[in-house]
Amino acid sequence: MSTDCIFCKIVNKEIPSNFVYENEDVIAINDLHPQAETHVLVIPKIHVASLAELEDVNLMGRLLQSVKETAKAIGLTDYRTIINTGAGAGQTVFHLHIHILSGKNLKEKL
Ligand code: 5GP
Ligand code: ZN
Repeated sequence: MSTDCIFCKIVNKEIPSNFVYENEDVIAINDLHPQAETHVLVIPKIHVASLAELEDVNLMGRLLQSVKETAKAIGLTDYRTIINTGAGAGQTVFHLHIHILSGKNLKEKL
């Protein structure tokens, strides 16, 4: 828990938010500024600043499993998964999160 972290506040329901999926490790919410028809963020409940700070290999696996579960729960079969690590790569919120992008507005493949 980091007191000035927006995603910690969402996880802790200090900021009301609709969870499109939740399990013991993560919550998933719609992105505030969607970059595709569907744009969901899978957010670990514990505060980890970025992938570079994540040392728990077991949690790493459970996060990817949670991405699969989120996609299934919201009915996605085809989707892109992105993790931005560091400001230079576009990370703007320093609480680890995995983007799930899907749908007709998905931009060209990277
Ligand atoms: P990043 O650029 O760090 O990989 O992704 C951060 C994402 O979080 C951005 O896509 C941004 O639109 C989203 N975001 C930032 N603040 C909020 C918020 O308060 N609520 C939600 N739902 N999304 C947010
Ligand atoms: Zn946090």
